[in-house]
Amino acid sequence: MLGKPKAMALALILICSMQRAAWAAAPPNLKSNRIEISYVQPSNPAHQPIYEALQQRRVLERFKGYLSPLRLPRTLILKTAGCDGESNAWYEDSEHAVTVCYEYIHEVLRNAPEVTTAAGVTRQDAIIGPTIEVFLHEIGHAIFDLLKVPILGREEDAADHVASYLMLHLDKDIARQTVDGVAFMYAHEMQSESPGLKHFADVHGVSAQRFYNLLCLAYGQDPKLFADLVEKKYLPESRGEDCHFEYTQVDYAFRQLIHPYIDQAQVKKVQPKKLLRPARN
Ligand SMILES: [Zn+2]
Repeated sequence: MLGKPKAMALALILICSMQRAAWAAAPPNLKSNRIEISYVQPSNPAHQPIYEALQQRRVLERFKGYLSPLRLPRTLILKTAGCDGESNAWYEDSEHAVTVCYEYIHEVLRNAPEVTTAAGVTRQDAIIGPTIEVFLHEIGHAIFDLLKVPILGREEDAADHVASYLMLHLDKDIARQTVDGVAFMYAHEMQSESPGLKHFADVHGVSAQRFYNLLCLAYGQDPKLFADLVEKKYLPESRGEDCHFEYTQVDYAFRQLIHPYIDQAQVKKVQPKKLLRPARN
């Protein structure tokens, strides 16, 4: 007969293994090439140039190709749309759709500096980075939902981690460019964020935390490419010294939970890294 603690431990082990088995059972009908795209005609004429520029640069087609190796149980829709004045982006689980608002892209364009900043961020960095990031962050939410990925901690932090991890796996020059651009965006947001307690109650981290988290993962993944982040004190040394472990933790979670759903034959076919390379114009 088992003592009470032993019986409890056994019950816990059984529950844990049942949960693990439930998760380990992959969702049915997994297939690659399950992305559909839509540029929704804006009702606000001010968004027309953005609508046209996104199509001209084939932004959604690129993400469709980039995500084509992901084996999903159903179609995921990526769309750009007018959002009645709301500068935002989201994943809607009832529609299995990621929406990025023209208002959000408009804000990115408005905030991008005309001339290269003292920190070396170009106008192109400040546009490309946040544009790639917003899609990857929302795609992170979509992956969690569609693949039923278990999440420890806040989902918004986890979606940020997915976005950062994927950005850091682009070609090195693009990874650097996107990190610089997204860091610029967070730094810009920090200036306009009032320091009220309300911000800390939000489901998202405050901009300063998101800024440091991104820099830490970048430095943790490639301390040579991102050495200047610590040298120039954008990332405090006290945080930087353990960033390798923070990156390793995210890398482990991604490999365990998401990597098994990536069709490697399709990866070779489409070379996803190249697809998010900005057009030369
Ligand atoms: Zn989010």
